[in-house]
Amino acid sequence: MSRIRLLPEIVASQVAAGEVVERPASVVKELIENSIDAGARKIDILIRRGGISLLRVIDDGCGMDRDDALLSLERHATSKIRSAADLHAIATLGFRGEALPSIASVSRFRLTTREADAVAGTEIIVNGGKIDIVRDGGEAPGTQVEVRSLFYNLPARRKFLRSENTESRNIEHQLHLQAIGHPEIAFTFVRDDRLVLQLPRAANLHDRIRDLHGNELLERLLPLTSAGLGKIDIGGLIGQAGVSRQTRAQQLVFVNGRAIESPVVTAGLREGYHTALMKGQFPVTFLFLNLDPASVDVNVHPAKREVRFRDPTGVREAVVNSIRRALEGGRGDWQEKFRAPNISPLSALPIERETRPIEVQPAFAQQTIETLPRVAPSGFEGPRKLPDTTTPAEERIDKKVPQQFQIIGVLNKLYVLMENADGLVLVDQHAAHERILFEELRRRMEEQGVPSQKLLLPQTFDLSPRDAEWVERNMSILQKMGIGIEGFGPNTFKIDCLPAFLKTSDPVSFMQRVVDDLKSASNSSSPLRLGEETIAKTVCRHAVKANDPLRYLEVEKLIQDLLGCDLPYCCPHGRPTMIQISLAELEKKFGRRSAIQT
Ligand code: ADP
Ligand code: MG
Repeated sequence: MSRIRLLPEIVASQVAAGEVVERPASVVKELIENSIDAGARKIDILIRRGGISLLRVIDDGCGMDRDDALLSLERHATSKIRSAADLHAIATLGFRGEALPSIASVSRFRLTTREADAVAGTEIIVNGGKIDIVRDGGEAPGTQVEVRSLFYNLPARRKFLRSENTESRNIEHQLHLQAIGHPEIAFTFVRDDRLVLQLPRAANLHDRIRDLHGNELLERLLPLTSAGLGKIDIGGLIGQAGVSRQTRAQQLVFVNGRAIESPVVTAGLREGYHTALMKGQFPVTFLFLNLDPASVDVNVHPAKREVRFRDPTGVREAVVNSIRRALEGGRGDWQEKFRAPNISPLSALPIERETRPIEVQPAFAQQTIETLPRVAPSGFEGPRKLPDTTTPAEERIDKKVPQQFQIIGVLNKLYVLMENADGLVLVDQHAAHERILFEELRRRMEEQGVPSQKLLLPQTFDLSPRDAEWVERNMSILQKMGIGIEGFGPNTFKIDCLPAFLKTSDPVSFMQRVVDDLKSASNSSSPLRLGEETIAKTVCRHAVKANDPLRYLEVEKLIQDLLGCDLPYCCPHGRPTMIQISLAELEKKFGRRSAIQT
């Protein structure tokens, strides 16, 4: 008795639908991709109740004649590839011929389509995979697909849908991806009879991002370019150092126009941003990779969300390099901000003047912000008295770094207050110091080595076996950093010199803190994976002197050194080193703005 049977066509489609059509957003994705492949210049999307009750995509693309319209509902019917060879270099978004029949098999489905020069169009109505009606239809040229009661015949699948709100948000995210990927196409999005989004055709990515996210975000983005080497072309825009999000939702990556998720690219982004992002934060990227279609396989994931690169290392390196270059280029823009033509350079404090602490509201003092931020400080009381600025000290100006900012004072022994053309700049002394030490250390490690200084008395210390193991394992890196540490019996170590820039009075407790910190970092990943970079960052964090009142010259030097850094605007852990509060914001706070306007 044979027990194996071929599945009926409809059941086979439903099985395929299980993979392609996970939720309403996947339907939207497939339909928009079809519209894009059809050369649409405008795509209108309408949904009701999270796309579960209704979902409609209308395009002005090439349309189909009746035969093609009927064929498009057959499984494995596609106009986009013809042979297995074509699979090796796919230039369209679709290629499997599976989306339409899959969607039609799990919904009440209606397709109307017309070619531009055709007298009449075609309307096809399909219910749960069964074609019920085929007739002439009179819609405008293009294609309209309407999907009602998604999964009505698959209650099990329907149960897995989330709330209407969540499904709507997923759809909107999908729409954003497609809109960013194709600025040349106009989009509208109507949700439950409300027009949520109306994007005109845009000339370029720049304009599309502005239309979608506003100028605020656009101003904090940097352009990406590829070095021109290799076969990988990279473009798009990425967030400056410190611009980050708690989720990956704005980390957009496109490969040949297709939005994808790729561990290879994600790793490249992480590495490219290295110290420019706080731990656990994600960058904002609109990254476009263009490469020979033959060197990327898109046929690896049912929803075509993942790709496989023929040369993953090459791709990763290209991403890392272009990110680094963009971030370091962005530094110039920041320095530009310090140019304050109408402020006399450094008409500063007398040297011996110690600035007195100024009270601020704690909420402001501790404000942590995720970007180079335009903070509107709530309840900011302001310095009570500005120091007198009548003694110019031109002779102190360093010729290298143009000093068109003015130091006002130091707040709470921690924040350096400065003035530039835009208004007030606050610098976190510790974060700044950390950044400076880190870049110094990294530079030295790459060059001739870190100069170290002998301790007057070598010291020994004991560690727990686990900590000891960690130190053993990373000893060579520590030594490379100028920390003279060696084993001195089981779980005991001797330390006899420290990097010259590190002026700690208690090397043992310093080492203890470094080890503790690194241990917690290595708990999450394997201890072996802690690279030089992480260790260097940690060493610098603990090398920073806490709450030292700096003298004016030291403050000045600190700011100079900071501005000389590759990435001056955040500490190696990604926290901001400086905050700008614009004059406009101050004016608003003091109610001056509206006064001027009236
Ligand atoms: P695929 O996109 O993988 O080819 P689909 O099932 O999504 O498979 O679509 C099948 C075929 O129907 C496409 O190859 C295309 O020729 C045609 N088609 C689908 N949607 C549209 C549309 N919006 N405009 C014009 N033709 C379309
Ligand atoms: Mg398709």
